[in-house]
Amino acid sequence: MSSKKKKKVKINKRVFRIFIIILALLIAYIAYLMIYRVSSIKDIFEGIETKEALISEYIVYGTHLNIKGSLDIENSNIDKVSLALKTINTEDQSEISMNYEKTPNGIEFSTSDLINEGINLEEMTTNTYYLFVKVDYNNNTSKYYSLKNDTDYDYQEGESLEYYTITKNDRNNKIDIKFADYDMNGQPLEYMYIGVNYTRLPDNVYDVVIDPGHGGSDVGAEYGKYNEADLTIKIAKAVKEELEDLGLKVLLTRDGTEGEEYNVYSVYDSNGRVNMVGDSKAKYVFSIHLNSIEQANSQSGVEIYAPSKANLNFAKSLADNIVKFADTKYSGLLMDYKIDEGVYVRTLTEEDISNSAANARAKGYEPYDIKENTPYLYMIRETGGIATGAYVDGRNPSYGVNNYYNSNIGVEAYLLELGYINNRVDLENIVNNQEGYVEGIVKSIKDELLGENYVTPEKKSEDGKNTSKVN
Ligand SMILES: [Zn+2]
Repeated sequence: MSSKKKKKVKINKRVFRIFIIILALLIAYIAYLMIYRVSSIKDIFEGIETKEALISEYIVYGTHLNIKGSLDIENSNIDKVSLALKTINTEDQSEISMNYEKTPNGIEFSTSDLINEGINLEEMTTNTYYLFVKVDYNNNTSKYYSLKNDTDYDYQEGESLEYYTITKNDRNNKIDIKFADYDMNGQPLEYMYIGVNYTRLPDNVYDVVIDPGHGGSDVGAEYGKYNEADLTIKIAKAVKEELEDLGLKVLLTRDGTEGEEYNVYSVYDSNGRVNMVGDSKAKYVFSIHLNSIEQANSQSGVEIYAPSKANLNFAKSLADNIVKFADTKYSGLLMDYKIDEGVYVRTLTEEDISNSAANARAKGYEPYDIKENTPYLYMIRETGGIATGAYVDGRNPSYGVNNYYNSNIGVEAYLLELGYINNRVDLENIVNNQEGYVEGIVKSIKDELLGENYVTPEKKSEDGKNTSKVN
């Protein structure tokens, strides 16, 4: 009996000893991490100038973050200006060369002049990145400046601009773009940083929105027994299904069951298509339409409408792939806003703007604040926020409000006019060769969002098991 008791005490002592050792190791590890981190941040700010660069704009459009600002420095002998992304883990450090211009006070810089270029958020690996403007001089010296938020964006201290990466292999990152202060020998130095962490995509966040044009009492263009609203919903649903097979999370702005009360004035309702796109936090929206022209059969073919001040490679890819896979042709429409075969960038003209102002005065509200190069099509303009000059802020009593008109994170938008409903050849092709149009659209989206070599994750059956696994 007594020996048994002794043995029990012995075991407990041993367990206790092991527990103490594990605890000590754990405390040592936490202390190491804390000291390492503090000293590493100190390392990052080692040699940084005490003057800050002023950020006048930081906007996410589609998958890219674009930063613009100014720096008050002596500007002779500058060789190069770049954005340095410093990390504690030095392997992920990188530099992006920036555009810059000399000003009487120093320089103005930007990561790109185009809204869908700059820092590619999709390519960032999980880490914390500290951003600095790096100025290289002709005499082989460099200076680093931290970034101070000088925008008038609605920003609370500690709050971040949140971005969710596109779903690839069932995986997403959450990216937080933030500002904070570093204590530089008693002086606070503001800096910008980007945190990239693995996440599960929240239920209300999507990769892509497909917007079938029109709906409800607004049938769009009509010809014979066909109308635009019915044809676009069929194509949109088929595109959604194929994108979901690639593992993407897709939202439709309508499903075809909407009633007569759904019409052109529903666009800016709280659950209308514009706010729906903003709420989705998607990276891209594709609005699907069919064209029509006064004289039947006088025009035909594909027109892709793209945002202004943007890299147009994606728009060109959409036009090329739809023409190829649907065996159709580029639109013959010749306008001064035709940029390339099948690619159109339509902006509001002086006349459009003065008409809009006259309409505002007639209805008794202050005219909109419309900037240069603002897209003509609302699905491109309003879904992009500040990047695309969205302006529907509620002052026009005929409409609701675009809750995202002043947002510095926008959804990259393309409007696809697949063909002319009142062209015999186009209509026949759209009705009988729907898969061709769907394949063309899906091919471009796959290449742009997932890469040409992307392999679709194994499909899961309804019981959640991999169907490809043989038991
Ligand atoms: Zn339409």
